[in-house]
Amino acid sequence: MNQLKWTNWSQSFQSFPETIEFPSSETDLVALVNTSNKNSSKIKIIGSGHSCSLIAETHEGTLISLQNYNKILSYDKDRYLLKVQSGISLKAIGLFLDKNNAALSNLGTIDPQSIAGAISTGTHGTGLKFGAMDQQIEALEIITADGEIMTASNSQNRELFLAARVGLGALGIISTVTLKAVPKYNLEVQTKTVSFDEMLTSIPLIHTTDFLRFWWVPHTDKVQLWQADKTEQTITKTNRLKDWIQGILFGNIVHEIGLWLTSFYPKKIPTLNRWMYRLLFEKEQQLIGNSKDLFVLPIHVKQSVMEYGIPIEHTQKAISEIRTLLQTKNLKVHMPIELRFTPENDAFLSMAYKRTTCYIGIISYKPFGKDIPHDSYFEQVHTILKKYEGRPHWAKKHFYTPETLETCYPEWHTFKQLKNNLDPKGMFENNFLKSYFS
Ligand SMILES: Cc1cc2nc3c(=O)[nH]c(=O)nc-3n(C[C@H](O)[C@H](O)[C@H](O)COP(=O)(O)OP(=O)(O)OC[C@H]3O[C@@H](n4cnc5c(N)ncnc54)[C@H](O)[C@@H]3O)c2cc1C
Repeated sequence: MNQLKWTNWSQSFQSFPETIEFPSSETDLVALVNTSNKNSSKIKIIGSGHSCSLIAETHEGTLISLQNYNKILSYDKDRYLLKVQSGISLKAIGLFLDKNNAALSNLGTIDPQSIAGAISTGTHGTGLKFGAMDQQIEALEIITADGEIMTASNSQNRELFLAARVGLGALGIISTVTLKAVPKYNLEVQTKTVSFDEMLTSIPLIHTTDFLRFWWVPHTDKVQLWQADKTEQTITKTNRLKDWIQGILFGNIVHEIGLWLTSFYPKKIPTLNRWMYRLLFEKEQQLIGNSKDLFVLPIHVKQSVMEYGIPIEHTQKAISEIRTLLQTKNLKVHMPIELRFTPENDAFLSMAYKRTTCYIGIISYKPFGKDIPHDSYFEQVHTILKKYEGRPHWAKKHFYTPETLETCYPEWHTFKQLKNNLDPKGMFENNFLKSYFS
């Protein structure tokens, strides 16, 4: 085993590459590819390491961290087009756009991810009018295994564009990304508690609300409905101390202690869930704020997550079956179970490829790094979501075999063919990719 060690954010795996490089220019990246080509060795690119699946794991060749490859390259303020180096974080993009009276059209729950890592795994937020992160991309440049830099967009190398936006790191190194931003906007956020059955009947609200998600707290009949609409109204004042108490003290510190204690008494998880609901979600909220601040949450507790995208029309049946599972099997599980929505997507390996999608996400925390057994729970939910044509999030856990996974994607073989053409020697392949494509 190699001496160098790299650990991902959720501490779900460690990599032992032969070397670790921190390039800061495209010339450096091309040179690294040319060297690997000459030596027939491997490359694994890392953005911010936030994926808990083994997609970013490597034990061979060079691990390239893009943490220093993070510059803004150009901004066309009339067309809202922002060109960046691919290792830049979503947070840094948001701050730059904000200063220029612009914003990203949608965002997930956190923003430290690199833009290339986010799109490569199909990272998404919620809202049927505004697509996943990869749908906000106008063009990208990718360094292929022979050192060539190819540009891909809807008008140039279109097949590559359809494959590389959710490209799993399999096609080459995304070097630059051109994003289509939108004028800066505020969000009016409202939260309220609904019952499980009210959640089922409220799902159509997704068609009339800009952004909407449900957080159901398992072992309770309580669901937090979070709705956000774009607004011209001015930002409401916030109290920093109150936000810290709610987000960090209760949301992370108290919850993590509770999770750690219940790891010795799993029967008490339902009680913890009920308490946390009261602390975090019971109080209805209405506030107006800058979109870049209100999409994201401070999440510090390490976790394993499984999230599948299913056709939106199956949402009620699928989530009801998960409730029945929890009621009938002796499972005590962490909160929340999350429902989010996106419009259909044109990237070949997007979980929402050609279908309007509901994402159902389940979670198992690792309080103070302690692993809590959760595979049986995850696998039983997998069985339900698979029945509803679930496609697993590339950055999260799943239980598909390679043979069954490929049947989820109509353009799987187009992607595979492109990968074989661009990277015939498998320079960018790790064990994760090998299991699906070799
Ligand atoms: C707390 C938490 C909250 C999250 N919230 C959400 C959410 O709301 N919605 C959602 O959909 N997901 C969410 N995720 C998942 C997260 O968005 C993905 O794991 C994402 O890939 C992380 O980006 P990264 O930069 O860390 O990528 P990494 O994990 O570093 O890499 C992911 C993949 O991208 C490839 N890659 C990275 N850079 C390049 C490049 N330049 N060229 C080619 N390939 C590249 C890597 O090789 C790897 O295969 C969350 C994860 C965590 C831990």
